[in-house]
Amino acid sequence: MTDDGGGPPAIEATGLRYAYPDGTPAVDGVDVTVAEGERVALLGPNGAGKSTLLQILGGLIDPDDGEVRYFGETGDADAVRDRLSVLTQDPADYLFNPTVREDLAYGPAQQDLPDGETDRRVDRVAARLDLGELLSKPPFRLSGGEQRRAALASALTVEPDALLLDEPVSNVDAANRAAILDLLDELAAEGVTLVVSTPETELVPHVADRVVLLDADGRVAATGSTREILTDADLLTDCDLRPPQVVRLFDGLTDDVPLTVTEAETRLDDTDDS
Ligand code: ADP
Repeated sequence: MTDDGGGPPAIEATGLRYAYPDGTPAVDGVDVTVAEGERVALLGPNGAGKSTLLQILGGLIDPDDGEVRYFGETGDADAVRDRLSVLTQDPADYLFNPTVREDLAYGPAQQDLPDGETDRRVDRVAARLDLGELLSKPPFRLSGGEQRRAALASALTVEPDALLLDEPVSNVDAANRAAILDLLDELAAEGVTLVVSTPETELVPHVADRVVLLDADGRVAATGSTREILTDADLLTDCDLRPPQVVRLFDGLTDDVPLTVTEAETRLDDTDDS
């Protein structure tokens, strides 16, 4: 367990099992622990059960077996609803009011906040995600990328301590992707616990320090640091995945393989300078 020793884990799940009502097994005996302030990726091929697992961890699906504890509490996710936010892949789960502003205000309006605090939060989060111009629009008028940003904003106005995101940048254009990834960096720097599901090894170094690798059968194949998992080509192949391109390119050339293009550029600049 990668606990920082600073208190109970944000999320501690043991023995999770879930099959859909039609009998399809999705999660098969999974243990996951996420320390407070940690950034963890749930990495696996399509159909590995990432989305189902994330929804179980976020309290949206009740597992058939196993239990999830939050911040050391024995209660269910509802007991920590103000501290935990889940972003599913479908913006429609978050955008259902006449205007984007009302969607962003929906979560905090359920909290017992002082007068004016909901509006302040909406304006603050909208500014961070550059949504100001869109606040008065009906959400269905937004582009796909704008909807993803607005959905993320609505998950943030409750000011969660832990945020669980299901493939947050899949099918998102480069500009919206950069905006979302920059915001995740800022949240991590503020100490927010992040859990991100993705089938993209390329994305993992940008969003996680530790990886829970799932195989195609909804089981944990391995957990380890982002570097350990992304440089183990055999392990990834067993899970129908490949290391990031830059890792494959530098494989065998250096002991300290870069995980991202930015890291590779730094290595190459250093080589030029020496
Ligand atoms: P991932 O997010 O890794 O792609 P999912 O959690 O979406 O995986 O799916 C895991 C398994 O559960 C897959 O076999 C998928 O087909 C199945 N599944 C997902 N949603 C449903 C559903 N609503 N009903 C039946 N089977 C489902």
